[in-house]
Amino acid sequence: MKLWEKLVVPPGRRLHLAEWDPDDTSGHKKDAATEQALAQDIARLDELQYVMFADHRHALLVVLQAMDAGGKDGTIRHVMTGFNPQGCHVTAFKRPSAEEAEHDFLWRIHRAVPARGDIAIFNRSHYEDVLVARVRKLVPKEVWAGRYDHINRFEGLLGDSGVTVVKFFLHISKDEQKRRFEERLTDRTKQWKLAPEDFEDRKYWDGYVEAYEDALSRCSTDVAPWFVIPANKKWFRNLAVSHILVHALERLDLKFPKPSFDVSRVKLT
Ligand code: ATP
Ligand code: MG
Repeated sequence: MKLWEKLVVPPGRRLHLAEWDPDDTSGHKKDAATEQALAQDIARLDELQYVMFADHRHALLVVLQAMDAGGKDGTIRHVMTGFNPQGCHVTAFKRPSAEEAEHDFLWRIHRAVPARGDIAIFNRSHYEDVLVARVRKLVPKEVWAGRYDHINRFEGLLGDSGVTVVKFFLHISKDEQKRRFEERLTDRTKQWKLAPEDFEDRKYWDGYVEAYEDALSRCSTDVAPWFVIPANKKWFRNLAVSHILVHALERLDLKFPKPSFDVSRVKLT
């Protein structure tokens, strides 16, 4: 079975994260063949981006969500290297600024959506507004509960406008998060990545699982599917994400446009 079919959250069905093994590698091994497959995907993404830019009918939006230390940054570093920086933009969504907080929750998101021909990568996203906002009770239930429908309508609009939305939840276990935090605590080159809130959020782990289950179940749609990426093993996470991105672009039937003039009549002097 292709990784796309295996890892997609089926629209309209209830998802239970406990049934998704974060250690799963779908029979793949950490070996030379896997390394080669990733390198091939990365080269293919570069080609596909080039055609998408020339074609100019579509855009790609990649959403990355995960618990802390889930590997969003590493995924961008290892997989998105396939994209030409000209035409690819990464936005990291932090706690809303004073100005952003004065607007509806999708205002800052809509501004970062890719233009035709471009790729945008969201490091965190509008989903924070049904995750941290819900778990940490930043807004009342009436407010966050209405956001799932807003998100589906918004992503539907993007789909109708030629933006392919692909959403990845990088799924790590609580033990794996602890291992990664411990590594960061003892490695001087990684300590800067830690913030006291990260450890505090561990106390809310079960609340986050519940909030992720709701977001992924309610907002995985045909136009904007969610994928659960088993992410305890970084090499498999990279392979799965790169495979799915290649597939997402290949199914668009991208084409080079016809030249606007008769090339056979050009005589270069
Ligand atoms: P890193 O791997 O570098 O830690 P990060 O994505 O965790 O990356 P931080 O600056 O540590 O970046 O954290 C950003 C914080 O902003 C997160 O705690 C996240 O939950 C919070 N945040 C993002 N969007 C919202 C939002 N809409 N409302 C409230 N908090 C938000
Ligand atoms: Mg952080």
